[in-house]
Amino acid sequence: MSELKIAIQKSGRLSDNSHRLLEECGIKFSNGTSVLKTRAANFPVEILFLRDDDIPQYVEQQVADIGILGENMVLEKNKNVAVLEQLGFAQCRLSLAIRKEESYPGLQYFNNKRVATSYPRLLSDYFTENNIKAEIEEISGSVEIAPGIGLADAVCDIVSSGSTLMTNGLREVTTILRSEAVIIGNKKLSEEKKAILDRLLFRIRAVKNARENKYILLNAPEASIQEICRILPGMKSPTILPLAEKGWCSLHSVVKEDEFWERIDQLKSAGAEGILVIPIEKMIK
Ligand code: ATP
Ligand code: MG
Repeated sequence: MSELKIAIQKSGRLSDNSHRLLEECGIKFSNGTSVLKTRAANFPVEILFLRDDDIPQYVEQQVADIGILGENMVLEKNKNVAVLEQLGFAQCRLSLAIRKEESYPGLQYFNNKRVATSYPRLLSDYFTENNIKAEIEEISGSVEIAPGIGLADAVCDIVSSGSTLMTNGLREVTTILRSEAVIIGNKKLSEEKKAILDRLLFRIRAVKNARENKYILLNAPEASIQEICRILPGMKSPTILPLAEKGWCSLHSVVKEDEFWERIDQLKSAGAEGILVIPIEKMIK
């Protein structure tokens, strides 16, 4: 029996979310605090716990068949692997930051400066494209302290809220790349492995759809139903059931998480009452 080998980050910012995603896909396994790999009890996969930096190479060499990691790392490593699916977590950006007291005339600031980063390939491509000649200091962690200890004039690092930069007296001046977690795969999987991967991707999409949508129930006067259906198109069209009270209906539909507040206001002005919004566990389109 064939098994799909999935590499996830052993410990770090991706590990909890990677673990949770697989669990929500119905794949049960113990976590990797002390082991390097483990088998799932109820799905033909083996989970390998690795450093995120190593995952692209291992997937290229088929030590692992697929891997979950930040797109930033996939692009930096530039290995021969396929990006199979965006996962919607670990959203962040790769940005250039300078000491906060320095004035910033534009990208030319970086000419003849020393910039510390863990992303030498992406940064050097960016500088080349923009005709900037800077010196790149490759360091593997705690990049944000480099200017403070005199190692560099500026940094190119992963940012989400920007608070780490601020704490270290730095300010973000430009973004090079936006990133989120993705699944990458080896390009030459056997037919059996591809079949397991398809089942897994099907489940992952159902989990992603569920996260991106909410189930909504509301009551409304019959006269408002047409207007409400226009606001809430749903998966196909909303379900409408009569209420015991004459002239009233209950309407059920699906609404996108990111459109949700805007729709609620529209629904209220259209006459909707008793609105319930419920998380969806899985959603298969
Ligand atoms: P490892 O020990 O596995 O090499 P690491 O220290 O290099 O881990 P982490 O800091 O855990 O890496 O980050 C892993 C990935 O998580 C990054 O490559 C990026 O895609 C994403 N990430 C990093 N920082 C943030 C953040 N502040 N917010 C959201 N996502 C982030
Ligand atoms: Mg790493």
